[in-house]
Amino acid sequence: MATSPTPMDPIDVFWHEGMLKHETGTGVFDSGMDPGFLDVLEKNPENSERVKNMLSILKRGPISPYISWHPGTPALVPQLLSFHTQEYINELIEADRNGGKMLCTGTFLNPGSWDAALLVAGTTLSAMKHILDGCGKIAYALVRPPGHHAQPTQADGYCFLNNAGLAVQLALDSGCQKVAVIDIDVHYGNGTAEGFYRSNKVVLTISLHMNHGTWGPSHPQNGSVDELGEGEGFGYNMNIPLPNGTGDRGYVYAMTELVIPAIEKFEPNMIVWVVGQDSSALNSALRCLIMKTVESNKYYSLLLLFSITKELFKG
Ligand SMILES: [Zn+2]
Repeated sequence: MATSPTPMDPIDVFWHEGMLKHETGTGVFDSGMDPGFLDVLEKNPENSERVKNMLSILKRGPISPYISWHPGTPALVPQLLSFHTQEYINELIEADRNGGKMLCTGTFLNPGSWDAALLVAGTTLSAMKHILDGCGKIAYALVRPPGHHAQPTQADGYCFLNNAGLAVQLALDSGCQKVAVIDIDVHYGNGTAEGFYRSNKVVLTISLHMNHGTWGPSHPQNGSVDELGEGEGFGYNMNIPLPNGTGDRGYVYAMTELVIPAIEKFEPNMIVWVVGQDSSALNSALRCLIMKTVESNKYYSLLLLFSITKELFKG
């Protein structure tokens, strides 16, 4: 009989219900448009319901006994400038002041969105600070709106602030010399990569994603294997584009043959996982990569993700 793995340490989860106040509206898919002849308009795919179920799983699901809950707090604007430009942050503040704005396709800053975005960034920073202060080994920030498409100078793909990038920067500023990012969302973590793409900071960004390529001016990056970083950042970005239907074996192969060896060679002091849930075969929008088997799930479920992190750090 198989037994569930159990972590040695509690999992510290950071959360604040204020993130639910970011409303993304309805329309045709993520357009926000009502053509006037439909009986049913769709919710934007990035809506509060998806995170509500993640919350309930963590609160009442099988790993709930291992979780220690921590409140999130809002970030202050100066903290955002470690990753984003002042001009971009001013644009967001202005959009909020004016009652909202569509920043790019599908990405709506509505009343309440800016406060939620600040809360998300601050909650992620709190999770990182918890680790940096030696209060735990593994922390999870359960947050939305998401952040990994947000670039230093622009919003993209439902993302306003790059929470992972801000957390990486906090780790660097606190004395971590080498930080790795592993992004398993089915879309390219272009914003996080862009933030460190030409930098001399020792940050290795790795992204496994569907090979969707660029999707317009807000997302000029292709996510292809030849995007390796530039200048002093050359060699510190690893893109692993995977075709639709890659499935479990392909995903496990990419992890064991590319990601794990790269991390072992890089020897980071800190790993930041970007845990988008949309590469699941059960995701209605994408049906892309994984997974049915225990082996592939080990790269996906939260509990086992943490086990991998512990393995990589040899405990
Ligand atoms: Zn995604």
